[in-house]
Amino acid sequence: MTSQPTRPAGWAGTPVTGAELTARYQDSVMNTFGVPARVLARGEGSTVWDVDGNRYLDLLGGIAVNSLGHAHPAIVEAVTSQLQTLGHVSNFFISEPQVRLAEKLLELLGGQPGAANGRVFFANSGAEANEAAFKATRRTGRTRVVATEGSFHGRTMGSLALTSKAQYREPFEPLPGDVTFVPYGDAPALEAAIDDTVAAFVVEPIQGEAGVVDPPEGYLAAAREITARHGALLWVDEVQTGVGRTGDWFAHTSSGVVPDLVTLAKGLGGGIPIGAMIALGDAATLLGPGQHGTTFGGNPVATAAALAVIATIESEGLLASATARGDQLAAGLARHPRVQAVTGRGLLRGVVLTEPRAADVQAAAYDAGLIVNAPTPDRLRLAPALVLTEDEAAHAVATISALLDEVLA
Ligand SMILES: *Cc1c(COP(=O)(O)O)cnc(C)c1O
Repeated sequence: MTSQPTRPAGWAGTPVTGAELTARYQDSVMNTFGVPARVLARGEGSTVWDVDGNRYLDLLGGIAVNSLGHAHPAIVEAVTSQLQTLGHVSNFFISEPQVRLAEKLLELLGGQPGAANGRVFFANSGAEANEAAFKATRRTGRTRVVATEGSFHGRTMGSLALTSKAQYREPFEPLPGDVTFVPYGDAPALEAAIDDTVAAFVVEPIQGEAGVVDPPEGYLAAAREITARHGALLWVDEVQTGVGRTGDWFAHTSSGVVPDLVTLAKGLGGGIPIGAMIALGDAATLLGPGQHGTTFGGNPVATAAALAVIATIESEGLLASATARGDQLAAGLARHPRVQAVTGRGLLRGVVLTEPRAADVQAAAYDAGLIVNAPTPDRLRLAPALVLTEDEAAHAVATISALLDEVLA
């Protein structure tokens, strides 16, 4: 898709170029990430446009966030009408969307609404959901937490303590302590690391930031068995994998495992910031009155957005669609000689290249009107909206294949 000098139809922003906004960004926004390559202006479904009028097929979905794509009418309507009715209430008051979302999440996790077997704490991000879970683990009377190599759990001090990447951790040490790391997917190593002093094992059912890394079959079941035997909590971080992304409501669902703690964020609000920490069974009462809180947690607008996301996944059959479109992408891309493997499930996919040039492919993809991401030197990550169509998936396969021919020739 070539650059067009004209602005897209419906464009209503200020007339400004990408180059100009990038310069102003550099002079005003803190440089914690590096300067992004494009300035986006508008989106619809799986398509976004930048301020210079270029059009892209969005295969990243705001990193697994825009589960219903851009500007989905269900989210627009839910957020707009909730904001017109009651926008924020504080922790001193209950609002109906908050209660309905808590009940719905418990129902999706297999519990019964209102039953004594689960409770939800609402936060505003993945890191915050993990902070809540981390604090809950301290209420077991034990302090040790086991996490995995390659993990990503967020950037706050607590969630960073559980994140393995040295480059993220080291500038901020000392971090909250008593965290040890075991190789991901290695059940014997977990067995060796967990004893009766461990409060919790925290694990992603598929490692997202590590490049969409699948554990071996049976890993979560082994983790459940080992943690249960030692009275430790099993804490599944579903921030990236949850809410339909893998074709199931949660990536751990198919393992048959019932965790003690589940954390959610990214896809839950479909673009509206929200996180949730769900504690099941005895874990539900670890945190008591006065022990945790956040001003915006359970905000009516954010919870209304999440309810709209879940209702739309149900009404539009998006779990089945995530599986079908994900299989289509995987099958199409796996045929390319420069692709070693396609990892992940549903619409969270890693494309493992034969050469460590994923960053070059990402840059070329932008020029070709496709948004993909390179989380590691040899992997592309795809996490498009669950509403991705069959034609869009076919276009994605064709375009990525052509890019691999060109860049990795
Ligand atoms: C993105 C992510 C987080 C952190 O979420 P934020 O909303 O960025 O704080 C935590 N865990 C996993 C698995 C993630 O992918």
